[in-house]
Order: sequence, then structure tokens, then C-alpha cells
Amino acid sequence: MRSRAVLAYALGLVLLLTGCGDPARNPSQAGGPSPAAAAPPVSKPTPSPRPTRTSTPKPPLRPLPSTLPVGLDRSSGDRSVALTFDDGPDPRWTPQLLDQLRAAHVTATFCLIGRQVQRHPELVARIVREGHQLCNHSWRHDLNLGRRPVADIRADLLRTNRAIHAAVPNAKVSWFRQPGGRWTPEEVEVARQLGMRSLHWSVDPRDWDKPTSQTITTRVEHAVKPGAVVLMHDGGGDRRPTLTACRHLIPDLKRRYGISRLH
Ligand SMILES: [Zn+2]
Repeated sequence: MRSRAVLAYALGLVLLLTGCGDPARNPSQAGGPSPAAAAPPVSKPTPSPRPTRTSTPKPPLRPLPSTLPVGLDRSSGDRSVALTFDDGPDPRWTPQLLDQLRAAHVTATFCLIGRQVQRHPELVARIVREGHQLCNHSWRHDLNLGRRPVADIRADLLRTNRAIHAAVPNAKVSWFRQPGGRWTPEEVEVARQLGMRSLHWSVDPRDWDKPTSQTITTRVEHAVKPGAVVLMHDGGGDRRPTLTACRHLIPDLKRRYGISRLH
């Protein structure tokens, strides 16, 4: 009995000494074990990446790397140019763009937003029917997706692919493109695990930034090289300047370089 009492006293002393030093590390802080669990190391709670709490604070965003991660596709894979169109499908612009591509007998890659896919599955069906390639562009164009927990990234990419497959069963989604090009290595890895390559670009005329069609054309013509991947948009805003620019760019790039699928 006596030795137990001494032990209890000693334990209490240890608790006092270790537990009070830093008020900021008190139980209300996220994740850590409660002070009671700190006494005898008998049954430590298994560390859980997502502790169950009634009001879960959002996990902090992972920092955005200062340089692009390795593993991004930035060229078409041969001498010809690849055209990629983001942020659709959009009923105002996508059909007009598809008409232009069909008239020129070329195909492009469409980077689709899951929510848009859910609203306009018939446009996805047409894109696939006319031989274009598909790219997952996240569910809701989340610019910070790559900075979120890996499980969240995976869920977003899967949800988007499920919407695409609801529109076109068995459609092949070979690429993923992070909105805004704000990539993280974790995201590239998740895309890889889900069977998608990470598609960046080499020519960005910034057609989302309200330039004239002439500016879009000039920017592409100045920057394009053999094997370029050109980024433009068929959704997310008024795309008339892009469509007007494409009326020149598509035949011109086809003549100078060829326009081909990504590979
Ligand atoms: Zn986008």
C-alpha cells in the first residue's frame, strides 16, 4: 500500500511538471491526447488523421510549392500541336467549338468540370462521340484542391470521373488538370493512382482574362512551338473571343504543325 501511495505521488508530480509548462498545449488544441491519457502509457489512442469531433476545424491547406512538381505532361508527344479546352462543358460555347473542330477534321482534349458534366451530360456524349479526349478538371474548379488532404483530392477526382461515366459509360479519362495549374506533388500522385496523367500546358493565351480575339490569336501564334499544348477555355465566362480566335487558329495551327491528340 505504502509503495503505491509513493508511486501515485510521484506520478502526480510528473504530471504537474510536464502538464503545466505550456498553456497553449492544453486539451482544447486539435488532435492531441487528453491529459488523462498522458499519465501511464497503457493504452494510447491510435493516432487518427481525421479525429471525430463535433465541430471539425478545416485542416490547414498544404503550402503551394514554388515550382511545378515533376510528372506533368507539357507537350503533345510529337511535333503536332495539341489543343486543350477547360472549364466546360458549356451549352453556349462547347457546341460551337465542336462544330469548328469537326469542320477542320481535328480533335482536342476537353478538361471537364464535374458539376458542368452533371448538368450537361449530352455535351459530354457529343465530345466523346466526335473523337475528342477527356480530362478531369475537378468537381467545382477548386483552385486549392491540390493543397487539401489526399483523401479529399481523391474523393473530388473520383466524383468527377463518376459524373463523366454517368454521362458516357466506359469513357476514358486519361488526364487530370488542376484548376489554375496550382499543382502539388500529392495531387499528381493521386491522379496517377487513379490512372490519370497530369496535364499541364506550354501555351497560355490567358483567354479567361478578357483579351480580344486578336490578342488571343497573337499570344498563341507567338508562343506556339512544335509539340505545344495550348490552353484555352470553352466555359467559365463569355468565350466569344476564344471562339473567334479559334476560327483562325485551328486551320492555321493545323497547316503549320498539325493538330493531334495527346499521346
Ligand atoms: Zn480551369
